[in-house]
Amino acid sequence: MSEPAYVLDSTAFYAGIPYQGSGRYFTTYLVLEEVKHHNVGSSFLHSRVHVTEPSPDSVSRVKTTAVKTGDAGALSQTDLSLLALALDLSRDEGGVSLVSDDFAVRNVAAVLAIPLAPTSIKGGGWKSIAWKIYCRGCGKEYTNPKLTVCPVCGTQLARKASSA
Ligand SMILES: [Zn+2]
Repeated sequence: MSEPAYVLDSTAFYAGIPYQGSGRYFTTYLVLEEVKHHNVGSSFLHSRVHVTEPSPDSVSRVKTTAVKTGDAGALSQTDLSLLALALDLSRDEGGVSLVSDDFAVRNVAAVLAIPLAPTSIKGGGWKSIAWKIYCRGCGKEYTNPKLTVCPVCGTQLARKASSA
């Protein structure tokens, strides 16, 4: 039995997740670059978190999937690298969970059958974000996170974090 493995996005670092618990933590260089700007990087971090690059195969698979789900525009290079790494590790390591509260990341992960960590990890101050889904065409708002196209007018739906 090995410890649970997690792939962390930058918000997971800000929430302090690598500093607690006993899991094995993974992330990509692009995420590390982001969190370094916020002084999260430290020698302690390096000893707890494996930083690695995803395989090019997984990156292109993630890109293809994101185009299909309509999330491609919402994903940064960092998001793509994270999803691809999670894809690699779910194959190589078994039992890896992706930790991200980004809607587009979670959406693409679900399609790729990458296990997602719950958005509230106990004791971690891991905030859950409420998403507002709305139509740029007719202005109607929706709550179903699975919707990507407006059922009323057929326009691609947009999302924003609502500060609830
Ligand atoms: Zn509409």
